[in-house]
Amino acid sequence: MPSTVLRQEVISKARRVVVKLGTQLLFDEAGDIDQAFCNTIAKQVAQLMKDGCEVTLVSSGAIGIGCRIMGLAQRPSDIGAAQAAAAVGQSGLMTRWGDAFGIENLNVAQLLVTRSDFEDRSRYLNIRNCIAELHAFNAVPIVNENDTVSVDEIRVGENDVLSAMLANALPADLLVILSSVDGVQGPDGETCDLIHDPMDAIGLIRQGKTRMGSGGMQTKLEAARLVTDAGEAAIIANGKELDVLPRLLAGEKIGTVFVPATRRMESKKRWIGMTVRPSGVIAVDDGAAKAVSEGGKSLLASGITEITGNFTKGDVVVVRDARGRELARGLSNYNADEARVIMGKRSTEFAELLGRQAYDEVIHRDNLVLAAPR
Ligand code: GLU
Repeated sequence: MPSTVLRQEVISKARRVVVKLGTQLLFDEAGDIDQAFCNTIAKQVAQLMKDGCEVTLVSSGAIGIGCRIMGLAQRPSDIGAAQAAAAVGQSGLMTRWGDAFGIENLNVAQLLVTRSDFEDRSRYLNIRNCIAELHAFNAVPIVNENDTVSVDEIRVGENDVLSAMLANALPADLLVILSSVDGVQGPDGETCDLIHDPMDAIGLIRQGKTRMGSGGMQTKLEAARLVTDAGEAAIIANGKELDVLPRLLAGEKIGTVFVPATRRMESKKRWIGMTVRPSGVIAVDDGAAKAVSEGGKSLLASGITEITGNFTKGDVVVVRDARGRELARGLSNYNADEARVIMGKRSTEFAELLGRQAYDEVIHRDNLVLAAPR
């Protein structure tokens, strides 16, 4: 899809938008929150809301403000100190946003989430419902990671990916990552207008073949991949560009836009395929691989060659082909031990092998999410 078509036919029609702002963008050179910048963002968001958009912000900055208040010269590497700084700084961050949106006569709402909130199906739905309700009240949801309780096992870790998970949860039809650079830089330093596959760009960064690696670009590309795989658009643009949000939503050529995959994934499949961390791997033979990825069939035990991990019934697992490529992710009807017992067998044998009547499919096709076609 050409950039002008994408910008004018897809981006300008977006109605539910997640906007992510990072610490670097929000702070001025003196190391304090740039209130004038927050005010311009609030004004732009208010404009989008007047034009009929539902806007949700993801804002970093809690740890940065906390450090300033506590007199710490730099962000602590120790997790306990970072949690303390976030606890001190989060209310300050919301005060700044409250002041900025107050000028626009809009209320702000604080939502603090961790990865485990996204992985728990009912809490995931609660996040979505709460944000829908806030929009109905014309309030502006402002989301950050709940750093005060986040330890490595349950944290997303940085807000680029959190904003993508949130965009997929709502679901939003556009993720805008505002950055202090103009977009993704190509090999000669020029800003790429359009990227079809964020994985290619991530590959170039990993091989050191491009200057795109600066400014935390890798996590931004990972975020763009999560959103575009689900069939929605993403943009990385410079937050300091004058009136960047209304201009982007008018279809103007600013920043780098990421082309959505051709399919639009239903909400439950976004949760299975791109939100929950998998607990195991199921390797399959060529016949099963073909049935799943080309035939849209459920995964049967007869085509399974190997089970890795210690998952329980209802966990998300990765399905890999004989060459180790990821084909799909899905909810397993069996725990890992049962799956090992029935792998390679026909469903008519399950009752005898397991001592009970059981599901024909190891993963039902309704709960199976194929890797994205592009
Ligand atoms: N949650 C962190 C904070 O508020 C920011 C994480 C990030 O920058 O991605 O300081």
